This record gives sequence, C-alpha cells and structure tokens, in this order.
Amino acid sequence: MAQAQRRAVESGVPDAAPFMHPTLLKNKGNWKYHDRPRPGVLHHVAHSGDQVWSVRAGTQRQMDTYTIRTLCDIGDKFGEGFVRFTIRSNIEYIVADQKKVDPLIAELEKHGFPVGGTGNSMSMVAHTQGWLHCDIPGTDASGVVKSMMDELYHEFKNEELPNRLHLSTSCCEINCGGQADIAVIIQHTKPPKINHDMVANVCERPTVVARCPVAAIRPAMVNGKPTLEVDEKKCMCCGACYPPCPPMQINDPENSKLAIWVGGKNANARGKPQIMKMVASGLPNNAPRWPEVNKVVGDIIKAYKADARPWERMADWIDRIGWPRFFEKTGLPFTKYLIDDWRGSRTNLNASAHIRF
Ligand code: SF4
Ligand code: SF4
Repeated sequence: MAQAQRRAVESGVPDAAPFMHPTLLKNKGNWKYHDRPRPGVLHHVAHSGDQVWSVRAGTQRQMDTYTIRTLCDIGDKFGEGFVRFTIRSNIEYIVADQKKVDPLIAELEKHGFPVGGTGNSMSMVAHTQGWLHCDIPGTDASGVVKSMMDELYHEFKNEELPNRLHLSTSCCEINCGGQADIAVIIQHTKPPKINHDMVANVCERPTVVARCPVAAIRPAMVNGKPTLEVDEKKCMCCGACYPPCPPMQINDPENSKLAIWVGGKNANARGKPQIMKMVASGLPNNAPRWPEVNKVVGDIIKAYKADARPWERMADWIDRIGWPRFFEKTGLPFTKYLIDDWRGSRTNLNASAHIRF
C-alpha cells in the first residue's frame, strides 16, 4: 500500500499536549498553588496531591545542533525527558521527582547553562533574529545580548529586583522584538543611500513608495533610468524602505546607532500595558562588547533596583516618580533627540507620554 502522504498543518502551532509531562497533562486546570523553592525552580502542587518541579535555565536562543543535543541529553539523563521553552528563550525541565532537581541544576551549570530567571529576577534577554534569519539587521542582536548578560548574570541568577525585569534587543527599527522593561533598538540617523543603477532591476517601485510611512519616497529618473528619490526633510530614517528595496541602503557603520527604550509591558497586572519610551539615543554600535550600551542599561537597572517599591515593574516605577525624576536617578541626560517631533505624530502624542510642543 502506498505510504500516506504527509500533509502540511496549516492551522497554527501544533497541539502541545503530546509533548507535555504526564503530570502536567493529568492535572491541567487543577492546580492548587505554586511557589519557588529557590531562584530558577518553580514548584506546582495540584489538588490531586501531585507535584512537579520546573527547573529553568538560560539559553542563547540561537543554538547549534550540538547545543540542542546537549540540552536534550541532560533532559533524558537528569530530568524526565520533558522540556519546554519560555518566550524569553529559557529552557524548562519538568520533573515529578524532587530528588532529581539538585543533580539537574548541577549538570546544567556544569555545561554553562545558568539556572535562574524566575520571580523577581531578570529573565533572559529576548532578542530578534539578526543576520541568521533576517535580511535587514543593522546590528548583531545576539552579540549585544551576550555582552549585556555577562554584566547582568547576577540579576538572572538571583531574585533581588523589585519585580520581573524583561530586556530585549532589536536589530532594526521595525523592531520585531516587541515590548520590554528595557529594550536596546537600532537607530538609523541618516536617510537611505540609493544605488540608482540597481533600483529598476531589483525593486518594485510602487510597493516601496507605498511603504514609506511619511510619504518621503517618489519616483525619479537618474541617468535615463527609472529609480526613486527620498525627500530627506521628511524622512525619519525608519528603514522601512530597505527590506523591499535593498539598493536603498540605510545600514551604516557610523550613522546606525543604538537607542535604549524603557517601560514597555504586556501585562495587565497592577498597571495597564504600556509602550516603551526612548531614554537614550545615539549610542555607538560598538561591537563586539557594546560598553556604552551596557553602561546605560546597568545604570537604569541600578536606579530601578534601589528606588522601586516591591512589585513595581519599570513602567509602574516611572509612573510613580515621573520622567524628570527618572532622568535624575539614572543620571541620563534628557536631550532633544528624546522628543517625538515627527510631523505625523499628532495622534501618537495624544496617546503617549511623549512631550508635546
Ligand atoms: S528586529 Fe528587524 S532586523 Fe532584527 S530580526 Fe526583527 S525584523 Fe529582522
Ligand atoms: S527610511 Fe523610512 S521614512 Fe525614510 S524614506 Fe525610507 S521608509 Fe521613508
């Protein structure tokens, strides 16, 4: 009999149930309480009396086959063969036998995977895909993450912060990294440079013109060839034209900088969800260790740790003390570059904490 053809699943992510630990499946929706016996370990108790421990370790998100095999082997040998990944690239091993927790932690740390990231600690830094999977990055997101985590390792391993601290890095201004308490995002400061010889062959010009959020691109003729031109007074250097039209190069070793944004959160807990605001701009994209970025991120975390009340997220802390005090306490300069002066931002200004003129 001909082998049944494998059919594509086109209805979203696959059902997680077949991959879940049997104790989690058995007690789904029937948990009594959970606690954290130590940083990096969650302990869930069900109404049935069943218990599970989840051991959380940080990973580098972009992993080679060898690393994934190592993590899986640890799960088979020291855990119970079940793992899951959190949205911030932590791996969690689920075990129903408490005796397995300590040897599992020891083995993970022996292989260089720190155990932590639970409760009021800093989770692993979420980072965007970078050069590995995306075609438009202006920096190496995972490199920035590595250099930051080397400095912030203590905050991952210990629960000493006022509340959860989510960090992210994004390697273009389109920013698929989403909201975070502190985000490092590329910041282009000059309009794209156009290679006119290539535009006609490579770009669908109407698509590129339509893509610009401030209508700064228009069709043009250069050396008898159809191409595009940019009204540099209107251009806000967002980089949105570069993906559909690579001859409109916006990445630049000097003029593509990094900016720090703070106060984003998706949660409804204690305060409403909030969009991040920029608090430092024009930091050099200084590979391979990005010391200027690490200094600003470190100063913000230090001030937050010292001044926020228990359970205040970054956004809640800033809401309470106000932006002037935020800049005082972090020692960051407030500059004109932090003011949203984009001419189309009337609605934006009415809906955000940006300063209005
Ligand atoms: S942040 Fe931008 S460049 Fe980086 S992966 Fe996302 S879309 Fe691509
Ligand atoms: S960088 Fe952004 S604002 Fe400037 S031309 Fe391109 S799409 Fe328009």
